[in-house]
Amino acid sequence: MTSSDCLFCRIGAGEIPADVIRATSDWVAFRDINPQAPTHILIIPRLHVASVSELEEAQTGVMGRLFLAAKELAREEGIDEAGYRMVVNAGADAGQTVFHIHMHLLGGREMGWPPG
Ligand code: AMP
Ligand code: ZN
Repeated sequence: MTSSDCLFCRIGAGEIPADVIRATSDWVAFRDINPQAPTHILIIPRLHVASVSELEEAQTGVMGRLFLAAKELAREEGIDEAGYRMVVNAGADAGQTVFHIHMHLLGGREMGWPPG
């Protein structure tokens, strides 16, 4: 299911341009328009799910595939040995601004902890 008024569904469908790195039948990876690290990639499932808060039991494979995609992309970006961070924001307090599940893959610099 896709949603015609969802930014990330539209990027996934090729209706809105993005710096797409790879697209598979399950997910699409593209560079964040406002990068917070030398590598900042967003990985989205093709399936429209607004937030982890909306995720259902039958859809849990979606998240596993995003992690595997992140692992592969981190290797391709050359950040796998130094380390990388995966972030999924859910809801307002976490700073979620686009309501289609996405994983941020960040790397290429040292990360602080705790996150802001
Ligand atoms: P979040 O705050 O977790 O919802 O993250 C949304 C992310 O999407 C932010 O890091 C934005 O910079 C990024 N973003 C918004 N619009 C676009 C776009 N058209 N292309 C690429 N990244 C985008
Ligand atoms: Zn969507």
